[in-house]
Amino acid sequence: MEPPAQKPSPAPAFVPPVTGPSLFEAAERIEGDTLERIRADIGPNCTRCKLHRSRTNIVFGVGNPKAELVFVGEGPGRDEDEQGEPFVGRAGKLLTQMIEAMSLRREDVYICNVVKCRPPENRLPERDEIATCSPYLVRQLDVIRPKVICCLGACAAQTLLQTNQGISRFRGEWFDYHGSKLIATYHPAYLLRNPNAKGEVWKDLQKVMGVLGLQPKRR
Ligand code: URA
Repeated sequence: MEPPAQKPSPAPAFVPPVTGPSLFEAAERIEGDTLERIRADIGPNCTRCKLHRSRTNIVFGVGNPKAELVFVGEGPGRDEDEQGEPFVGRAGKLLTQMIEAMSLRREDVYICNVVKCRPPENRLPERDEIATCSPYLVRQLDVIRPKVICCLGACAAQTLLQTNQGISRFRGEWFDYHGSKLIATYHPAYLLRNPNAKGEVWKDLQKVMGVLGLQPKRR
């Protein structure tokens, strides 16, 4: 006899808060961890995932190790791979403008990515690559303990919130991430292709500024 058909459960209307145990509880918590130690643990020539085959430089992260605000992107692009620094290409220049519009300088914040090596042809990082590399991101965030984490695009948001939901479902909403406030907004590369979305991103950044007590830069 056929088993009774299961009623499909309704899709959750909202991203669930991060509850353990998850990849992040599994990520080793290290007493007295530092950014230098995390970088050293990655090593000079990491081969833990297949991205190593085509990368030039490991792009660890840059900025203020005591930043109140951390931006998390997806993975390095061509310029970042060449220079070893995140967000230095076209999207990076737009991110710098966004940071400056918030009355901050690039060196005030910390900028990093989910994966530290460039995916070939700028494709999305794959599940296994994210699973291998994201524990280092988790450790970076654990060391910095920023007031606000701003995820740039779906990859960063889905990785940190452990969800498959599309970013437009939860963009601009606040989440708790291990004591930091987390917000997701569109990736600057998306804004280069869709300048009409800049207004929505500016609204998200204004929320971040509200939490950090920042006034927009006077022009
Ligand atoms: N896009 C990203 O997600 N990260 C970078 O560092 C550059 C472009």
